[in-house]
Amino acid sequence: MVGAGADLLTVYDALGQVGVTLPAGSCPTVGIAGLTLGGGFGLLSRALGLTCDSLLAVEMVTADGEVIRADDKENQDLLWACQGGGGGNFGVVTAFTFKTHRVAEVSIFRISWPWTELPGVLEAWQAFAPFADERLTSLLTLKAGSAGSVSCVGQLLGTAEELRRLIQPLLSARVAAPSSVSIEAMPHLRAVGQFGGLGSDPEQWTVHQHQEQVRFKNTSAYAYERFGEGAIATLAAELSRAPSSRCLVQLDAYGGAVGRVAPDATAFPHRRALWSLQYQAYWNAPAQEAERVAWVERVRRSMLPHTRGAYINYIDANVEDWLTAYYGPNVARLTAVKAKYDPREVFRFPRSIPRASPGAAEAGAAEAPAGGARGEGATDERAVA
Ligand SMILES: Cc1cc2nc3c(=O)[nH]c(=O)nc-3n(C[C@H](O)[C@H](O)[C@H](O)COP(=O)(O)OP(=O)(O)OC[C@H]3O[C@@H](n4cnc5c(N)ncnc54)[C@H](O)[C@@H]3O)c2cc1C
Repeated sequence: MVGAGADLLTVYDALGQVGVTLPAGSCPTVGIAGLTLGGGFGLLSRALGLTCDSLLAVEMVTADGEVIRADDKENQDLLWACQGGGGGNFGVVTAFTFKTHRVAEVSIFRISWPWTELPGVLEAWQAFAPFADERLTSLLTLKAGSAGSVSCVGQLLGTAEELRRLIQPLLSARVAAPSSVSIEAMPHLRAVGQFGGLGSDPEQWTVHQHQEQVRFKNTSAYAYERFGEGAIATLAAELSRAPSSRCLVQLDAYGGAVGRVAPDATAFPHRRALWSLQYQAYWNAPAQEAERVAWVERVRRSMLPHTRGAYINYIDANVEDWLTAYYGPNVARLTAVKAKYDPREVFRFPRSIPRASPGAAEAGAAEAPAGGARGEGATDERAVA
């Protein structure tokens, strides 16, 4: 059982001490609560699923102040909704019960190429990453042209030799030779530290002190089909004219255990996506904010013809037709759960699930989430500690 206030660093560390883990996110400051309630993707996801796929039960305080439990025997509809239906919608979770996974050693890789190779690298990655051995999860980071590089990282539940063999499609892509390649086996907890920017020694980990305050904007979309030349050229063009080297697009490979779950088996609907995209910009000085936020919105919009839906955990007031974008075929069921557990909509915010939606019936009929062209709103920016 995990208390709802725990951050990922605490969860990974405590579980790692007894040789188990959860497939959760990369960043140590993220809370287990919001991550799980919205889905939860990380470097074990193609092997072990989303964080919400390991969720067995929640303890929740309802709007009426009642403490209830949701598991496979009681309040199953609420457990279903807590597996991707988004944080803050149904009540306050006070504890999560997860199934854990025994993971000792992993192998990780990092490859970098010169930025000019972006089209060929993206072409090679998209043909490889969502279809690779399920034990392998990889992320592709396309930085702004001024940053000068394109990079891919990944993690295998297997040996370094296996990993070197499995990533051959990337290493032998028809592009210029990588500028750097590293492949290394290590204990899983050390890999968590490396991907989370904490360093290799868990004894030295700390995330809440002495960290620079950085502001950022992050929004998301999904690719359900491989990108053609037009989509790749659009990404390259937007990245080449990004206002800062701290602008980037990250692609997280789906498929594997994420894709084996039916889109309506949990509230998280994007099971058939090939990868998610995150459009990100970072800055420190307030004067830089407007141009960075504008760039994120520009690249998101320019990619709409090639993408569908969005990830609730990168909630963004600009996302059009947001209920459908975030929840696809699960909207009608989620509004019914809302009506049952929070009928007075005590838990209400600009992107909270309503107890009924005029569009719910139509949205429920949709096979896969789609983005529309409706609605404008304020951006969602948060300071990261
Ligand atoms: C730096 C960074 C890195 C990230 N990396 C990843 C990643 O690798 N993978 C990934 O999938 N996502 C990632 N995310 C997205 C992350 O999953 C979401 O931001 C998520 O909402 C964070 O949850 P939180 O509890 O930390 O945030 P909060 O802002 O505290 O909460 C998010 C939402 O959940 C609700 N909530 C929080 N606690 C509870 C509770 N106990 N009961 C009910 N509702 C609650 C809040 O009301 C809010 O609506 C990242 C985000 C950041 C900022």
